[in-house]
Amino acid sequence: MESYWVIDGHCDSILDYLDGKRSLTSPQEGGQWDLERAQEGKVILQFLAAYIESQYKPERGTLRGLELIHAAHRFIQSNSEKVFLIKQREDLDRLPSGSKMGCLLSVEGGEIIGNSLFLLDIIYELGVRAMGLTWNQRNAIADGAGEKTQSSLTQFGENVILRMNELGMIIDVSHLNEAGFWHVLELSSQPVLASHSCAYALCPHPRNLTDEQLKALSRQGGIVGVNFYPQFLTQEAEAGLQDVVRHIRHIAEVAGVEAVGLGSDFDGIENTPKGLEGANKYDALVQALSDSGFSQTEIEKITHRNFMRFLSTVLK
Ligand SMILES: [Zn+2]
Repeated sequence: MESYWVIDGHCDSILDYLDGKRSLTSPQEGGQWDLERAQEGKVILQFLAAYIESQYKPERGTLRGLELIHAAHRFIQSNSEKVFLIKQREDLDRLPSGSKMGCLLSVEGGEIIGNSLFLLDIIYELGVRAMGLTWNQRNAIADGAGEKTQSSLTQFGENVILRMNELGMIIDVSHLNEAGFWHVLELSSQPVLASHSCAYALCPHPRNLTDEQLKALSRQGGIVGVNFYPQFLTQEAEAGLQDVVRHIRHIAEVAGVEAVGLGSDFDGIENTPKGLEGANKYDALVQALSDSGFSQTEIEKITHRNFMRFLSTVLK
């Protein structure tokens, strides 16, 4: 398999960078994702998530989010011979032939803007191009998948969706509750991303998407980045490459292969599927997809072409 590239819709590695634990340049420092492994794994575009941990929410969510965005910029600047920031549609033209990997800044979750719409514009100005509306809890926008409520978006949340559409920001519905998911699909004029989720039919976890959700997401041109977290793949602490393939196959069958992408969640998950321990192991996943009957064209769609189509639709 020579002709695949990887676009990964989610990793949390910037947290280790900010905390001074790793420079994210070499596997010797541990973790699951770094530049050396991403390059070996043929990653051409990586979403770098600013994950705001629960202890900062809600009061210090904005400050912590900005600190993470600042760290992501420092990381990109310190490695400018290897990476560059993706800010607009034209930047995609530099992939994959350019020698540099693109980084797209995303924020996980909407706590960063509190209940102030102008902060959405501010983070856009700072280069952020994707935002997960919620993490697992409730915020001013909506309720997360960890809440027992079934509320749809707040009035403020509706305004956030409309403004994200205007700005050309990617709306990420991973971690959002189901009522919120349907509300977003009803409101958004642009396709929507579930950056790191799996199929509920195979693994009934509230973080996964039902077949109806997968179909609806796909109908609007959206995609789901299949998450490598064993608990979302099998509900167990362990999983293998075949479990990732099973979820990819299911989503492709239910929603079409055009709806499938990858959202590793590297450095946000404490364990990984066997054989997929880090960003250098995509070759093994591609081989497993090929062995299970996916064609070369289908594999290219799953690994990068669907994401390219999606990004060139949503980004301005
Ligand atoms: Zn997450």
